[in-house]
Amino acid sequence: METLYDAYCTAQRSGAALVAHVRRQGLKKHQIARDFRITQKEADLYIWLGHQFTAKLLMLAAEKQLSVSQLQVVAKAANKASANLVDKQALRQEFIHHAATCTVDELHLYVNTRVLEVNSGRAPRKAATGISKQADADGMGHIHAAMPYHEAKKVSAILDTDAKKLRRLNPNLGYAEALTHALINRVTAPSADSSPTNTPCFLFPLQADATYFADGTVAFTNGSTRPLKELVNEQLSDYGYVIVTALDENGVPTVATSYLCRRRNPDGGGRDKQRSFSPWQKFISTAEYLCCMHPDCSYPAISSQGHHLKAWTNGGPTTLTNCVPLCGPHNAQNDDNPAKHWHNGHAIKDPATGRVGWQFTRGGPIYHNKNPLIRKGMREWALAYYGFISMTPTNK
Ligand SMILES: [Zn+2]
Repeated sequence: METLYDAYCTAQRSGAALVAHVRRQGLKKHQIARDFRITQKEADLYIWLGHQFTAKLLMLAAEKQLSVSQLQVVAKAANKASANLVDKQALRQEFIHHAATCTVDELHLYVNTRVLEVNSGRAPRKAATGISKQADADGMGHIHAAMPYHEAKKVSAILDTDAKKLRRLNPNLGYAEALTHALINRVTAPSADSSPTNTPCFLFPLQADATYFADGTVAFTNGSTRPLKELVNEQLSDYGYVIVTALDENGVPTVATSYLCRRRNPDGGGRDKQRSFSPWQKFISTAEYLCCMHPDCSYPAISSQGHHLKAWTNGGPTTLTNCVPLCGPHNAQNDDNPAKHWHNGHAIKDPATGRVGWQFTRGGPIYHNKNPLIRKGMREWALAYYGFISMTPTNK
């Protein structure tokens, strides 16, 4: 008499025949779920498997007595093979033949190795990241990245450690949520080299009784002096970036410097030795003007180029005081060597106010950009603060 064990073995080995039957009869998942006493999700598997093979291949699999597990391994692996490099039906057939000779675990190993072999003829896939351009119905943005597996493992290890730390601090946090916070923290945390655009910035005007000297000291009318850095760090070290405006020894408003408190000077690190302005220098000149400085322009400073007021080719340094935002076309129009050639004019600093404008004719007047963006920039704000101009109300 057949034991229960034997009966179950037979049933397991009838998996492929069962899938073929489901397909032939067009059975619906609720029916399968009810008859087999399984969930509809589990029932879906029988229907899915039925669609993965031709009727002929299912007959072969039934003949070879493949179980549902084996059929599943075969179907999943074959789907990972590149259709351009191999005939998938032929591959499925090969796998079915092999399945009859080994255990499910051995089959797993075999099919994965074969798929790797098949796909190795394929050009390596490029890394790619997609970020949704719009929020979904729940206000969420989605990021999906594909990269070489070893890189993904590295990223995963870092985020995993961070996420676990976050969960120790807040046990209510789920792992997936903690992982997301870890990712955000890692990407948005300011680092020594990162662009400062997403960090708070403070405008810090020194009182008019203070004079700023180019060597970084501040003299007060009572005779005392202090290093500017010390003065600023003392008051704002807990916050973020600080851009300081002050009157220089000629009484002209100047952008003294900026600090990420306890971090570095934008002109530091030998930056004046190289031609490109650092992200820090560009950030400050953006805050200073907010817009390309050409009088006929409304192109935003954040996407403009850092222009050397005194041309680099004429020995102009790559320092903050020599940096001004010009859009690409206006940067190209600038006459870098006005002593030799005069075509379009050039960007120039007004010696009385420190404001940059455009001089169209040799020795002619300097025209300033009247764009409302400029009025909202730090340079105009400082001029108003020190009483050089009255600040007209800007649109809110
Ligand atoms: Zn422009």
